[in-house]
Parts: sequence; structure tokens; C-alpha cells
Amino acid sequence: MSLTLQEAVSLKPFNTFGVEVQARWFAEARTDDEVRTALAEAERRGISLLPVGGGSNLLLTADVDALVLRMASRGLRILEDDGERVVVEAEAGEPWHPFVQWSLAQGLCGLENLSLIPGTVGAAPMQNIGAYGVEIKDVFVGLTALDRQTGELREFALEECAFAYRDSLFKQQPGRWLILRVRFALSRKMALHLDYGPVRQRLQAEGIEVPSAADVSRAICAIRSEKLPDPVVLGNAGSFFKNPLVPVELAERIRAEHADLVSYPAGEGQVKLAAGWLIERAGWKGFREGDAGVHRLQALVLVNYGSATGAQLLALARRIQADILARFGIALEIEPNIF
Ligand code: FAD
Ligand code: NAP
Repeated sequence: MSLTLQEAVSLKPFNTFGVEVQARWFAEARTDDEVRTALAEAERRGISLLPVGGGSNLLLTADVDALVLRMASRGLRILEDDGERVVVEAEAGEPWHPFVQWSLAQGLCGLENLSLIPGTVGAAPMQNIGAYGVEIKDVFVGLTALDRQTGELREFALEECAFAYRDSLFKQQPGRWLILRVRFALSRKMALHLDYGPVRQRLQAEGIEVPSAADVSRAICAIRSEKLPDPVVLGNAGSFFKNPLVPVELAERIRAEHADLVSYPAGEGQVKLAAGWLIERAGWKGFREGDAGVHRLQALVLVNYGSATGAQLLALARRIQADILARFGIALEIEPNIF
């Protein structure tokens, strides 16, 4: 199948905020060759290329004067299996949650805590997606990417990806790498991670004392569905701010005034604060101005009630950042990619 370029395409169906903007050009690539063709077409037209997957970590603030390329390649395969450790490879365009479900159906553990995260496999390394105490770096083996500077394919091993909290080399070098496929080492016997948030409690409440990976996945899906807005119903891009890492002394100064401050150890002299707690404490939870708002159940999530523009959502985010800085002396960092 060859690449089809469409002109002036609405990106509303391709970003989970549901923001209405147009792409100057739009195409879907299902093969490496189509990705290369798209790059050549963008160059020929003198415009840049913006790859997107599920659009669940994007905030589009204006029409996109570029070729928006939806990474749509599909394919899941087992590369190695020694009876315990199993290396699987997934194409960039595979939707993430169905991939997790597929791995569980093969009897493989490792991805269960990352259940129900929207988006695609190819975007997952961008911010080293994480939830409930697991990040993809914990099961990551390698990936294949196309270097847009040289046109060459490049293999990346774990230690070359600079994975950190919601961060990676690929996020640090925006526009350079097109991720084509990703490999994960899963296991038939891996220990489960239950000590994070309400996971164990939820399983026990269901009478499950010795859970399987599939049980953990089901419990996490249930917890997430209760707390997080479904983008199909209410536009959002998940957490809008990263949880800040701050010096212990600053956390203690805040705790002196707010005894219920939520914090977690984060290495030498630092603690992680819950950004959602700070925003809620500052009174923003449930705030709404026009169609841009802060979710009523989770203050970390900005929502689009219908026709908010990306600029309005960003303006709200900036007001929250300024308020948190003024109140707590903490500069919140935006998590989604702003275009
Ligand atoms: P997109 O939003 O399409 O793209 C994100 C970035 O990656 C963009 O800069 C884009 O240009 C780039 N990109 C996309 N595909 C490629 C590719 N193949 N090669 C190179 N660059 C590419 N995130 C978490 O970490 N943990 C969570 O628990 C979590 N929960 C969420 C819950 C909800 C309800 C929502 C809406 C979002 C949540 N997210 C979470 C954020 C988001 O789902 C993830 O970051 C996801 O990996 C984004 O995938 P995507 O395909 O939608 O990426
Ligand atoms: P939660 O359970 O209410 O916890 C609030 C915050 O406290 C989380 O952000 C989490 O940090 C932190 N936390 C909780 N237990 C912890 C522990 N044992 N050790 C260290 N930190 C702990 O959070 P939630 O909003 O319902 O989200 C649940 C999980 O899904 C979290 O891991 C969250 O990151 C993830 N999630 C991510 C997004 C996104 O878009 N990035 C969206 C929804 C959910 P961490 O965020 O560092 O884990």
C-alpha cells in the first residue's frame, strides 16, 4: 500500500484533548517504507514532519503547519523464549493497552501495571511511560528508530535511551528519532508489583490473596476507570504536570503548614511530591473557565468540556503553574508535548 497524503485535515479525532486544529498535510504510515516516503514528501514540500500515535500526550495550540504522520504500523511477535524469559517485539502503531492484554494472554508478566494507558507502543519510550510503580524501562530491551538527520536505522539498547521519570533521550531530542518498533523482556515468572497505591487493597477486597498478572491488570483497570476521565467522554491528556522532585527541606517547610502533605522518598536529600495534591490544596480541583477545566476527581488532569482551544488549556496550565510557584515555591513542569 502506498502513502496517501491528505491536505487540511482536522486533528480533532487524533488528539485525546479533542482540540480542533488542522494539519496542513496528514498521512498514515503502516510500513518503514511509508515512513521514509512521508519524510521525503515533507522535505520536498519544505515543511516539517510531526509523528503522532494516539495523540494522548499532546496539546495542540494552533493549526499544525507540517505533515502530521500517524504511526500506524501493526505487528506483535515473540523473538526469544527460553521458557521463562520471553522477548517480544511490537510495531510502533500497535495500541498500547491491547498489546498489554495480548502479553497477558500469552501468560507473560511485566506490563500488567501499565494497563489501560492510552496511546501506542511507539510513543511509550518517549516519556518512559509509568504507572503504579512500574516504568517501561523496567522491561525494555531495545528499539529500532529512524534517524531523521541521517536517514539511517539505529538500534537502541536500554542504557542508550537515557530513561528517567517521564523522560528519555527521544523526548530530549524532539524531532530527531522516529521510533519504528520496540522490544520488551517479559517473563513467565516475574514477581508482581502490588505495593503501590490501592492495588493490593483492591485485590484483597475482591478476595484475591495470590493474584496473577491478569488479576493485577484487572484491578488496575478498575481503579483507573473510577478515577480518570475517559478521553472518549471528556477530553484530556492524562496528568498535565509531572510530580516535582524537591529538596527535603522545602517539603518540610510546606509540611509545617500542611501536616497532610503527600511525599515519597526520591533519593539523596530529595522527595517526590504529588503535583495533584499541591493543585488540589491550592483550590483548583473542579475549576472551570469556559470549556477548559481541572478534573473534579483528579486535580492533575486538565479537561476540555467541549470546545476549549489548546491556547485556553495552556493559559489555564500557566495560571496553575504561577499559583503553585507563588504558594509553595515549586515550579511545576508540564508533561504533555506542546505544539
Ligand atoms: P502521542 O500523544 O501521539 O505522541 C506523544 C509524543 O511522542 C509526541 O511528541 C509525538 O510527536 C511523539 N511520537 C509519537 N509516536 C512516535 C513515534 N513512533 N516515534 C517518535 N515519536 C513519536 N502516561 C503515563 O506515562 N502513564 C500513565 O499512567 C498515563 N495515563 C494516561 C491516562 C489518560 C486518560 C491519558 C489521556 C493519558 C495518559 N498518559 C499516561 C499519557 C499518554 O497516554 C502516554 O504518554 C502515551 O505513551 C502517549 O502515546 P500516544 O501514542 O498517544 O502519543
Ligand atoms: P495516586 O495513586 O492517587 O497517587 C498520587 C501520586 O502519588 C502519584 O502521582 C504517584 O506518583 C504517587 N505515589 C502513589 N503511591 C506511591 C508510592 N508507593 N511510591 C511513590 N509514589 C507514589 O495516583 P493516580 O493519579 O491515581 O495515578 C496512579 C498511577 O497512574 C500513578 O503511577 C500515575 O503516575 C499513573 N498515571 C499517569 C498519568 C499520566 O498521564 N502520566 C495519568 C494517570 C495515571 P507517580 O505518578 O510518580 O507514580
